[in-house]
Amino acid sequence: MRLLFLGPPGAGKGTQAKLVAEKFGLIHIAPGDIFRQEVRADTDLGRVVEGIMAEGRLVPDDITTQIIEKRIASPEAANGFVLDGFPRNIAQAGALTKLLEARNDRLNLVINLEVPEEELVGRSRTRRVCSGCGKPYNIKLEPPRIEGKCDVCGGALIAREDDQESTVRQRLKLYHEVTEPLFEYYNRDEIVVSINGCGDVDLIFERIVESLEKKGLSGKR
Ligand code: AMP
Repeated sequence: MRLLFLGPPGAGKGTQAKLVAEKFGLIHIAPGDIFRQEVRADTDLGRVVEGIMAEGRLVPDDITTQIIEKRIASPEAANGFVLDGFPRNIAQAGALTKLLEARNDRLNLVINLEVPEEELVGRSRTRRVCSGCGKPYNIKLEPPRIEGKCDVCGGALIAREDDQESTVRQRLKLYHEVTEPLFEYYNRDEIVVSINGCGDVDLIFERIVESLEKKGLSGKR
């Protein structure tokens, strides 16, 4: 099964994409997570993308597309994948279609997580990420068991630099301008479903699984 999550920054794509990947044995591919990992490890790529991300701009398409191509071709992706944060513009979507066609594949479903804009800005204020392993939290919606500490590795929870309100607004503007046109792109194949992204994590997950079942995808590998 090959799925794509679309939705504005802060809609909960990462949380839901990980849950879906786990349930169906798929690989979760999120360029934002990959880039943050590179920044934490202070690699050459990390140094290139750090400033771009802090300003809420997009990393160049060729860098991002190459990373995605490698993951999709990896043995871990044999059962399929959940893309989260890629493609983010029409050029990336075109590159994805091409690289899937070359493998005789295509996307099965595009899941649009819908959340009102003011809620997104509010959520970003309470969003944290583990400085050790990168696990995301929301101290209001999904708090860790021990305040300020990651449940998995015990690392300190920190706010993402790109979660400052001005950067969030910039990322939302970019989303409307360059990512939203993807709905028209994928609507041509009638593979977009919209899911209400408000409510608690389990409830949203249920809505997603239900819509996969309705499309006859839940048993599909
Ligand atoms: P995210 O975790 O998906 O919100 O992504 C965080 C940041 O990583 C974005 O604001 C961009 O700077 C960068 N990024 C993530 N995905 C992409 C992409 N598909 N194309 C370019 N830059 C990306």
